[in-house]
Amino acid sequence: MIAFHLHLYQPDRADPWLELLLPEPSASPYRHWNERVSHESYEPNAELGNYEWVNFDVGPTLLTWLKNYRPWVYVALLEADRAGLERWGHGNALAHPYYHVILPLVPRRDREVLIHWGVEFFKRHFKRGPEGIWLPEMAVDVETLEVLADYGIGFTILTQSQVRGGRAGGPFKAVLPSGRNIAVFVRDEGLSNALAFGGFERFLEALRGASGDVIVALDGETFGHHIRGAERELARFIGSHKNELANLGKLYERGYVGEVEIIERTSWSCPHGLGRWSRDCGCDGPAPWREGLRELIDWLGRTVDAALEQRYGSAGWRMLMEYIGVILGGDSSKYTPEQLRLLEAQRAKLAANTSDAWFFSRLGIEFGIAVRWALRALELLGDLSLISEFMDRLSRIVPEDVLMLYTPGIRGPLMAAMMYITLSVHGIASDRIGPYIVRPVDDELEIFDTRTRERYRFRYDLLWSAFVG
Ligand SMILES: [Zn+2]
Repeated sequence: MIAFHLHLYQPDRADPWLELLLPEPSASPYRHWNERVSHESYEPNAELGNYEWVNFDVGPTLLTWLKNYRPWVYVALLEADRAGLERWGHGNALAHPYYHVILPLVPRRDREVLIHWGVEFFKRHFKRGPEGIWLPEMAVDVETLEVLADYGIGFTILTQSQVRGGRAGGPFKAVLPSGRNIAVFVRDEGLSNALAFGGFERFLEALRGASGDVIVALDGETFGHHIRGAERELARFIGSHKNELANLGKLYERGYVGEVEIIERTSWSCPHGLGRWSRDCGCDGPAPWREGLRELIDWLGRTVDAALEQRYGSAGWRMLMEYIGVILGGDSSKYTPEQLRLLEAQRAKLAANTSDAWFFSRLGIEFGIAVRWALRALELLGDLSLISEFMDRLSRIVPEDVLMLYTPGIRGPLMAAMMYITLSVHGIASDRIGPYIVRPVDDELEIFDTRTRERYRFRYDLLWSAFVG
């Protein structure tokens, strides 16, 4: 049998204060990347019915955006899950932790919250409990698998280089230190990469040499966004292979085909283990700031956790677990404003851990968003000295053009830039903001002060990280 798994995810670039997506000129002619990727990939794949024949997971922040702004795609995903359930006795959707966080890099309690929230989110939308879960970047260690077992998760997917022996297929039994088991599907690296990086021609060539069950797992955006037209080729492939297709739930039902040993602290997207999210491992080029950002966000975590613990002790953690009810739209009136501030600080802390900030070697929009979520968390704690400490630590990590955004002498041009962006959210392109003239130049905004004839230039992708403190 052949099982495809598509990981559907976009970094959540919403502003932490407004919780709105602001315009992203690099996504032109679309307003931002969610719109562009949706148009190129999610919408055509939904229309072609592809999701009905494959496994998929959708990052909760993306599924929420789809529900609000592309409801027909959202409905198609729910129906696709049910189509799998009817055809194979198992739904097509896998759960996803609430945020796209490298789980082995955060404290166990954070992993529990992210998985519990992710499972509750899944149940709310797909109206059933998840059988399997996707681990962001397939980042794994045995402790994370123990947490999955605590939440009744049956299986996850890893890649060949993450298991000893490296045999693809599954489900394989992974025995945990607690004595329990969890099932692991091992994706075929050669076939998955042939498809992800070479398209269908190379994939079909590679498939001819394959035997036994084939597990192909890759980014869902491959189909239409990374590779134009691949969504139609996927539909054609499905049309001519219907009898050979299965989903992971169906394969899981047949029982273990062997046993695997997990290689601790590995991922599918960094050959240096978890280096990509914690140190200058070389992935995507030199990134001397990566380790500093990891330490900064870890410090944030300790700070935010201490605030909750000092005030509420272990009851605070129970409160945090249940808080998903409010996040999913429930009534918050049973919490005091003080409790809500601490709980929202926790949510902001978890969002600040989103892996996208570290992924590329360039300090870009995702980095800025992590910094803003961190500042949002500290702001909620209401202790201004923590914000100064954060800024001081940040100044040791980032280069001049980023740090420049925090210098006190440019408040006016910054405000003009912010207002320009805010207005353009609603399509009002006003280049005159008070005494300032604002114009986009490449990927920067140029602000001209007509009073002093001074010019300022801000990197657009980092601009929104600036207006704080
Ligand atoms: Zn790496």
